[in-house]
Amino acid sequence: MIGNGRSWVEIDLNVIEKNYLEYKKQLKSNQFLCAVVKADAYGHGAVPVSKKLQQAGCNFFAVATVDEAIELRKSGITGEILVLGYTPIERINEILEYDIIQTLIDEEYAKALPDIHIKAQFAIDTGMNRIGLNADNPDECEQIIKKYSNKFKINGIYTHLCVADTDSFDSFTNDQIKKFDNLCSKIKGMNLEYVHCLNSAGGLRYNKFGNLVRLGIVLYGLLPSNDVVLPDGIKPALSWKSRIIMVKKIKKGECVGYGCTYRADKDIKVATVCTGYADGYNRKNSNKGTVIINGCKVPVIGRVCMDQIMIDVSKINEVSAGDTVTLLGDGFTADDMAHICDTIGYETVCAISKRVPRYYL
Ligand SMILES: *Cc1c(COP(=O)(O)O)cnc(C)c1O
Repeated sequence: MIGNGRSWVEIDLNVIEKNYLEYKKQLKSNQFLCAVVKADAYGHGAVPVSKKLQQAGCNFFAVATVDEAIELRKSGITGEILVLGYTPIERINEILEYDIIQTLIDEEYAKALPDIHIKAQFAIDTGMNRIGLNADNPDECEQIIKKYSNKFKINGIYTHLCVADTDSFDSFTNDQIKKFDNLCSKIKGMNLEYVHCLNSAGGLRYNKFGNLVRLGIVLYGLLPSNDVVLPDGIKPALSWKSRIIMVKKIKKGECVGYGCTYRADKDIKVATVCTGYADGYNRKNSNKGTVIINGCKVPVIGRVCMDQIMIDVSKINEVSAGDTVTLLGDGFTADDMAHICDTIGYETVCAISKRVPRYYL
């Protein structure tokens, strides 16, 4: 049996390492990489991915939650771990206990946290309007950062670029970087260890400001957007496989699946595959999706069910129950599936549910 015999993901950790090293070649010599491994490394498994990258020399990781950070620490990750999101004030002693860096979301949050001298970095808002001190008031930012540098071990500040992956927003991104740069100059005297603003797209497309690049989606070999061209040698690390559990012929006029949304316009051969939306297979693939059998693209017909999908295998001669089907991989990427489902590759891989076990190559 390969995988779990039902619906499983295979992740090639050597590909992730290669992506990391190829991306690193794009940077300046004084810049290093923070591996963004939030959301279980975008569905790839935060612990195995981080361990592999630690071996490859990575010593800075970013996650979204305190639980994700603790999981890494407990698994033997020794580098810096930055929590990019909110940690409940009631849990802040765990940040201290596990030697984690907490993002300070705004002044109110910094004020509310207890004075236990945790490592922290201020988020700076340069235009996204999500979290951070407002960079439009640089004097106030400077004053706040300095004010709290006794309460926290502040070892950096960072901002987030929200359109670095989009050609038509060049001036917006340059403006964000300029605002951040301006604030960094003001607090140069603090000698903060980490000043960073670049995500995957930013590191490839903008003027390489800062000494740390927060690398997420490209680590996994996926595209930030269609405007971004990936460096040679970077490719997807994940494939998703499932199995055919039944093959049958149906007659012209018969329908397939809930709602009878597919009706055969000729006699066809239908296969049922044991993966559905409870596995994270997007329901928008209904009557639109594609799976791969022996390198051949085959359409999803009818609605995606909770645990199964049906596909039209009329053009495949040799097909029977037990055969493996590729849902992602063999040249069909999460970005391709995302395009069909009107979403992004990020969501496609994050959505693969925990019912689908991950196997490592
Ligand atoms: C998720 C995230 C990143 C990584 O973005 P990618 O587009 O996946 O490279 C970087 N910075 C912050 C603050 C994030 O939340």
